[in-house]
Amino acid sequence: MKLIFVGPQGSGKGTQAKRIARKFGLCHISTGDLLREVDGELKTEVDKIMSRGDLVSDELIVRILKEKLESDECKSGFILDGFPRNVAQVEELAKITEIDRVVEIAISDEESVRRISGRRGCGKCGAIYNIATAPKPKVEGVCDDCGGELIQRKDDNEEALRERLKVYHEDTESILERYTSVRVDGEQSIEKVFEGVVEVLD
Ligand SMILES: [Zn+2]
Repeated sequence: MKLIFVGPQGSGKGTQAKRIARKFGLCHISTGDLLREVDGELKTEVDKIMSRGDLVSDELIVRILKEKLESDECKSGFILDGFPRNVAQVEELAKITEIDRVVEIAISDEESVRRISGRRGCGKCGAIYNIATAPKPKVEGVCDDCGGELIQRKDDNEEALRERLKVYHEDTESILERYTSVRVDGEQSIEKVFEGVVEVLD
């Protein structure tokens, strides 16, 4: 199985991708992990770019990805989580692998805003809470673990999020056009969403 998972901010796409990968024995690949785990010559190249503060190019990401997809760990298939994000990346990806299906974890913009604007982080220990979903802190505004103050990240505000959602919809449409896709309702419990994905893949 060669899959791509897509979903807007707050859809729980990453959580589902990891669980589905475990269930079907696939490797789960997020771009962040990919860049963190890279080694050898490619690592030297990535380090050089990152130390300059530049973004790693699509072409380089795909070269790293290619190596990963050829590893033993990925021989029964893979789930790409967070890549490709746009048409240019789709084109690069097409050079190294086919994709069987795109799984879309769909939630409305309203739900995305509700979930994301509920996110709070502890300013002291970094623990993460969500006052709209879970885990909620026992006392409003206070970290359960260390008593630190809970704060909202600047880019978790509604206006910034709506902008990110707009970009998400435009980019995702171009990805969905390109591949066979299935859509699962992401506004159910994590368990139900998981079952829904398993059902469409089985
Ligand atoms: Zn804390």
